[in-house]
Amino acid sequence: MAEKNISIAADRDNPNLILILLLLNKWGYVSGEDISKKLGVTRSAIWKQVNNLREMGYEIESSTRLGYRLVNSPDLILPEEIWSKAKLELLGKNIHYFSSIGSTNEKAKKLAISGAPSGTLVVAEQQTSGKGRLGRQWVSPSRTGICVSIILRPEMAPYEAPKLTLLTAVAACETIRKQTGLLAQIKWPNDILIDGKKICGILTEISAELDRINYVVIGIGINVNNYYFPEELIDRATSLSLILGRKLNRKELLVGFLESFESHYNLALKDNFKEVMTKWRKLSCNLGRHVKITGKAYSFEGNAIDIDDEGALLVKKDNGEIERVFSGDVSLR
Ligand code: ATP
Repeated sequence: MAEKNISIAADRDNPNLILILLLLNKWGYVSGEDISKKLGVTRSAIWKQVNNLREMGYEIESSTRLGYRLVNSPDLILPEEIWSKAKLELLGKNIHYFSSIGSTNEKAKKLAISGAPSGTLVVAEQQTSGKGRLGRQWVSPSRTGICVSIILRPEMAPYEAPKLTLLTAVAACETIRKQTGLLAQIKWPNDILIDGKKICGILTEISAELDRINYVVIGIGINVNNYYFPEELIDRATSLSLILGRKLNRKELLVGFLESFESHYNLALKDNFKEVMTKWRKLSCNLGRHVKITGKAYSFEGNAIDIDDEGALLVKKDNGEIERVFSGDVSLR
């Protein structure tokens, strides 16, 4: 079926209830009469909505006696798919969904400027100009990975914002480990690697005054079902499906990540960031290792010994000096 270009701005308090009912009763029939009573809509309005869902790829059986039954869902991360599975308070009350978009972070920044509340998500099946740090390109073909941006308005000083990248990395790394059993590791400051190849990138962007944050947008890209990469990335990138040799459920992975993110974010807001740091250290592939730091105008090598409370990497040079390295303008090899 040709992919339709869909964009939806959805609110958890006002979902597509037919889809929610079908998702919550998967494999069981929901009677037309029940739907009609619960939603206060006519049988023909239900029929129309069911057909809309079918056009989107939902396989729905109908029987005059029994009603409707969801047999198969398309590989789409629609807001209702998230709401029917996830236990979330802050995240995802508002979800902006796109089958294709330039960049979820760019869209999220525009929404944040026009007042979108903390916890708003931008989810896309594909990014046509996804980006990493320093304007580098992030490759995200349709329905292969997870592309999500989170808008937050934390009560935090701007200098604390790197903590958000660290906790996002912990949430992504833990979720990948839990759901796949693979040994994912965090590469400071913003990547998740498996066997030395990048499986996930994180881009944190912030708008702040001197002493307060206006908004933060955290973009996450996870390579899930990519079966190939452009030539220049083959040695550096990988996906969960390439490693495991099977297709994975992107919805479950996204829901797991969002739940983990929310609980780590709550820890950070409740002054329990130490717990997040302890996990980060355990998941890191850099600490205790030799690293090369490359900035625009300098480069040096040393041993990565720790990260500090502000998220800076502490690198001990050969002459014994310890450098605090901030993520803004460096690459790490
Ligand atoms: P680097 O990984 O080059 O040291 P970085 O960690 O700062 O730098 P990011 O800005 O986070 O990188 O991500 C952009 C880079 O990631 C691109 O320059 C490209 O090398 C790589 N990349 C792009 N798309 C993907 C992808 N889908 N999976 C893995 N790596 C990718």
